[in-house]
Amino acid sequence: MRSVNHSTPATTGTGHRVALAGTPDGLEQLGTLVTAALDAVSAAAAERTGPLPAGGPDAAIAAVRDLVRDGGFLTDAPGPHRVEELFEAYAGWAADLTHPAAVSRMQCAPTPAAAAAELLAAVLNQSLHSWESGPFALELERRLIAEMADWVGYGETASGTLTPGGSISNLMGLLLSRDHVLGGLTGDDISHTGLAGRAIRPRILCSTAAHFSVARAAGFLGLGRDAVVRVPADERGRMIPEEARRLLDGFAPDEVPIALVATAGTTDHGSFDPLPELAALAAERRIWFHVDAAYGIGALFSDTLRPLFDGLAEADSIAFDLHKFGWTPASSSILLVRDRARMSPLGQQAVYLNPPDDEAEGYTALLGTSLQTTRRADAFKIAASLLALGREGMGEWVDACHSQARYAAARITRDPDLELLAEPILSTVVFRCRAGAAIEDESTWNAAVRRHLMAEGKALLARTKVRRQDGQAQVHLKLVFLNPATTTQDIDALLDDVVAAAAEVRQSPKARTPQTAH
Ligand SMILES: *Cc1c(COP(=O)(O)O)cnc(C)c1O
Repeated sequence: MRSVNHSTPATTGTGHRVALAGTPDGLEQLGTLVTAALDAVSAAAAERTGPLPAGGPDAAIAAVRDLVRDGGFLTDAPGPHRVEELFEAYAGWAADLTHPAAVSRMQCAPTPAAAAAELLAAVLNQSLHSWESGPFALELERRLIAEMADWVGYGETASGTLTPGGSISNLMGLLLSRDHVLGGLTGDDISHTGLAGRAIRPRILCSTAAHFSVARAAGFLGLGRDAVVRVPADERGRMIPEEARRLLDGFAPDEVPIALVATAGTTDHGSFDPLPELAALAAERRIWFHVDAAYGIGALFSDTLRPLFDGLAEADSIAFDLHKFGWTPASSSILLVRDRARMSPLGQQAVYLNPPDDEAEGYTALLGTSLQTTRRADAFKIAASLLALGREGMGEWVDACHSQARYAAARITRDPDLELLAEPILSTVVFRCRAGAAIEDESTWNAAVRRHLMAEGKALLARTKVRRQDGQAQVHLKLVFLNPATTTQDIDALLDDVVAAAAEVRQSPKARTPQTAH
């Protein structure tokens, strides 16, 4: 038995004692609160008829106002009853990711194993920045990174880190590319000298369908968003390697290409840039080859879809999220790097965190692989989810979502009121409602249909813009299937709702004079 003095707990205005979560008192309170939280989720689910309550933005604002009331969060009358009210409101107004009509975002419902691990991670609040801040947590991340490196075909020299999201994983990959390529060119340690005063214009190539986080990263890295050169893509959003070569050949002498970014699973179509060709081009030109598989990673678990990833092991760095196609809660993002020596720009020695004599004795941590100092143990919930599902389970779930997309596409093709843009590649389906003669502006109408479904809380669809053959960019709707439990009946009902909403919006006078959709 440990002997610990759990010092006098703070007492709230209602006389309720507050204890720290890991203490015996705290664990008892936690148990009660967890029961209340889970009850709130069940109650919300029982009340729902769709993935959201009806009412749109105004109703959501009112729900928060009703909860917080005049006293604010630092209330004079705190206590567990207020916390339970918070839980009820939060669960009641949460987008229900388990609902089959929640198909707008690359936001999955997590496994119970991962959710339970998140609770434990919060209770124990380990960190990865010094050895004693979380010894098991950081060894777990090391082991997980090593296994993931194996998934993608990397060897023993690989390394990586968990990050807060695909956007940050891309940023980090590009940071390493900048320092490696420009360091090699100038002989300087770019993370120390910076870029000012150099007569070069660094360039990053990615396709027109690449994620916006690539350009944002270029901005954050001091290269400027204009450093990103957009390589034309084919009609499915796949980068055309010959176009990349042509652009490289056309660079002025001071334009220095540092990274070629391929997308493995584009956000709209789930398209894969041709990895082997692009890897060869990057190697030939000595450019860093980064693969953004933030969404596409799911294909790696599926026996049928895995060939899409041929050539992946040639990448210098790979970004992927398991909070999209991987059933763990955000944040579950990973950056893998083929050669761990190239992570040196992230290195950091701090006298108070990782002094060299401690490190020489094995007391090392993960400060020097991250942009962060205090860092949560994301590997823990990922490990829990993977141990619960296994490779076969992950593959079956990915295949189920892929089949749903194919079913939805076939159903859309048969429906005279809907028009499919293209066959699904992973688990997204891009389509639009067919307007016919009565509707002048089809884009505005499709956008209004989506908002109508959202405001009613009936279905959550995504939207995007697609350039048609006539050169016009038109609003399309998108379904993102990430729920393996969704049935063909669910999909039929969802598409029936879309068609019905389209008819309702068509009849509403408001629909004919809305602002043009951009
Ligand atoms: C979602 C996505 C990202 C961004 O990832 P976050 O985890 O949302 O930051 C980057 N690239 C692609 C292709 C994506 O689909």
